[in-house]
Amino acid sequence: MAGEQTERRARATRARERLVDALDAALGGRLRVPAGERPDPYRDGVVVNAFGLTERCARRAAHPADDFVESVGTARRRIGLAALRRLGDDASAADDLATAVQEVIEERTDLARGLCDWLEQLDRPARAAVAAGATTWAAATARLVRSGTAVRWADASSSSAWNVPERPIRLTATHEALAGGVVSGERLLLVADGAGGPTERLRAAYLALVRSLGTQHAPVGITVAAPSQGTRSQVAVDDALLDLAVDRVVEHVAMRADPPSAPPAPGRWCRHCHLLDVCDEGRARTEG
Ligand code: SF4
Repeated sequence: MAGEQTERRARATRARERLVDALDAALGGRLRVPAGERPDPYRDGVVVNAFGLTERCARRAAHPADDFVESVGTARRRIGLAALRRLGDDASAADDLATAVQEVIEERTDLARGLCDWLEQLDRPARAAVAAGATTWAAATARLVRSGTAVRWADASSSSAWNVPERPIRLTATHEALAGGVVSGERLLLVADGAGGPTERLRAAYLALVRSLGTQHAPVGITVAAPSQGTRSQVAVDDALLDLAVDRVVEHVAMRADPPSAPPAPGRWCRHCHLLDVCDEGRARTEG
């Protein structure tokens, strides 16, 4: 066990050094704060998340939208996770998922302010739709946890994060559940749209990287679960997986540091792109 922990710690250190060196090579003096100043990624830097990292169009990834709007699709995960946490909590009387979801929606004590405000202005049918979506999501996700595994459901209002030293760059990643610990070895559950494909592998790699940097220990593995398909796949965390994430993060950050250099990749996704009005390639695709 001690040897395994030492190796997981060394693996995290190697990934950290490789990421910092690769960012130095790619960025040079860009995205670097003057000595003595505190980096602020949210004000004048780059905040990386899994969605931007797996974005199909580089131009859209380089110009992320800032007009997030809640919907059943965006809210169900956070409400579903809060309900799953309540089921294992002695402070809650709920003993089934639907009741726990109702509690979360009615009490709104374990949700972020923005989500609470959105829930509050919904009428009864809309709240019922949210409750149904969250209950379905949570039930399908819980079914994909291997029976007998003791997991801790994630707090949806927080994420794993790591700030690049001396640069206004912050890496953030979310997971749905965690088993084990830093010393014994963490195994994380990641819910995705599919399991076993290259996009899911990249998402798993990125989560493993952010977790490695934050805890200074590489996790043992990531389980990628796809509730919509009822499937899951295991991704072992090794140096090659972390290198995959490091390469993609560096490529993504370099593009965000120089948005005009990001090439468009038109596709069926242009129809819902916030840049469509100002993107000739996207309009040619949607009007063609
Ligand atoms: S409209 Fe299409 S090609 Fe243009 S930025 Fe959006 S996704 Fe990319």
